[in-house]
Amino acid sequence: MQVTDLTALAATVEDEVKPYYEKVEAVARQNHARVLAAFHHARVSDYHLKGSTGYGYGDQGRETLEKVYARAFQAEAALVRGQIVSGTHAIALCLFGVLRPGDELLAVTGAPYDTLQEMIGMRGHAPGSLKEMGVTYRQVDLLPDGSLNLAEIARSLNKRTRMVMFQRSRGYSLRPSLSLDEMGRAIGWIKKKHPHVVVFVDNCYGEFVEPLEPPAVGADLVAGSLIKNPGGGLAPSGGYVVGRQPYVEMAANRLTAPGLGSEVGPSPDYQRLLFQGLFLAPHVVAEALKGAIFAARFFERLGFKVHPAPNEERTDIVQAILLGSPERVLAFCQGLQQSSPVDSHVRPQPVDMPGYGDAVVMAAGTFVQGSSIELSADAPMREPYAVYMQGGLSKEYVQLAVLAAARAVLAVEQG
Ligand SMILES: *Cc1c(COP(=O)(O)O)cnc(C)c1O
Repeated sequence: MQVTDLTALAATVEDEVKPYYEKVEAVARQNHARVLAAFHHARVSDYHLKGSTGYGYGDQGRETLEKVYARAFQAEAALVRGQIVSGTHAIALCLFGVLRPGDELLAVTGAPYDTLQEMIGMRGHAPGSLKEMGVTYRQVDLLPDGSLNLAEIARSLNKRTRMVMFQRSRGYSLRPSLSLDEMGRAIGWIKKKHPHVVVFVDNCYGEFVEPLEPPAVGADLVAGSLIKNPGGGLAPSGGYVVGRQPYVEMAANRLTAPGLGSEVGPSPDYQRLLFQGLFLAPHVVAEALKGAIFAARFFERLGFKVHPAPNEERTDIVQAILLGSPERVLAFCQGLQQSSPVDSHVRPQPVDMPGYGDAVVMAAGTFVQGSSIELSADAPMREPYAVYMQGGLSKEYVQLAVLAAARAVLAVEQG
């Protein structure tokens, strides 16, 4: 296919997917309304937007941001801190905050995201893993159609099960992301039989994709990263935990120290960006989703399998494209990188990354290092050689980058 043909194809594809964009916009309107109402309810003022120092006692900016997050996520309480270094760290606060020796953790959406596996002790020998602390782990895989295996979950729940973990996003796998509707029904059913288990949700990449958040369907504790969806592309760092107040406080005790909990911790100098990023997040997530829909249809038209399909219901921002060979995966990532605003001259190569099992190639020419609400693509170098693309601050930019990636992939064939 000629380069000029690709440009024409992009215009055709844009027309084809417009009706799907409308559904995304409807969700963005609902989420924007809820976030805005949370700002109003917390009476956000200019003086909340500044940083603080030292212990951060009585930091009203911090407390107000946490009030806004709690309401925006339909939860009782929130912990939102620049001192949480990543999504993995936020999740660790929840797991280590709640689980005690002798407890069991039950993952019900298959193997958790790569970076959680060493923390749990499923892989590697990191000192201080849950396994080393005497917390056992059990996993129920999804059924072949991607739905929850309720019969197996029922068999796996036992006296020691303290926490049930859901992962909303597909992560680096071709499973479908989990809808809040299905999650909510499962939580209701689990709690009826085991009212004392704590339901934890890894919410990474799922925030603001649906008109509800996990606490609204019964999740007790939820965590994610501020350099993904809820940071709106503006947050320079940080993580969040939302949920029922006693559990959020247990996570806070892990972040600081038992007894100090959420009462301490200064706001970073970029506190304004955490507010502003959350305010923009529903819109930015919608831009990313439109970019993903465009990419799905574009690559489908080029003859590649994509997950999810362009018009499929989405519950996370990840778009998988099955390229089928390591050469094409590398070309895609290099093409995407070349159209980035930052580091466009860098050529990504597969490398071993801390926390990941296989070599990974990543394209990310982002303003915030590693931000994946800005456009990025990751691919573990393993079968079936799929790239996972996510984010994009504007759909126009995603389209330009997808075209560049497609040109690079097609050049491999001609090469
Ligand atoms: C990104 C991600 C994580 C980990 O987040 P980091 O910020 O990279 O540590 C965990 N789970 C899922 C599903 C993710 O997408």
